[in-house]
Amino acid sequence: MNRRHAVVRQRFSAAHEIGHFLCGHEAFDDAHVHVEESQHQWNSQSAQEREADEFAAELLMPLEWLKRDISKLGLDVTALARRYQVSEQAMWIQLFNHGLAERGGHASTKSGRSSR
Ligand SMILES: [Zn+2]
Repeated sequence: MNRRHAVVRQRFSAAHEIGHFLCGHEAFDDAHVHVEESQHQWNSQSAQEREADEFAAELLMPLEWLKRDISKLGLDVTALARRYQVSEQAMWIQLFNHGLAERGGHASTKSGRSSR
């Protein structure tokens, strides 16, 4: 369990770093002591940190895949987190950010009528 958590966190950290790089945040100042040991703060103050987090979330949990999997599996966050190798917390945040889940935990599925 701890081992899995460590892997999950490493994946997120790596994606977060790539986010900094691709977003052109070249100048990491000394304050950017990173995620690897300290807990990751999802609501980091810095806009660059937030941007890197959003990038990481998209990289690890692409929206189109999520939508497809939710329509197949339902909104089973535990299963989704395992499938995408992210923490459940990260999965929830991604779902909230894209309006796929609501606070309180139930899905706001836009399924409905089939369009044929
Ligand atoms: Zn960062």
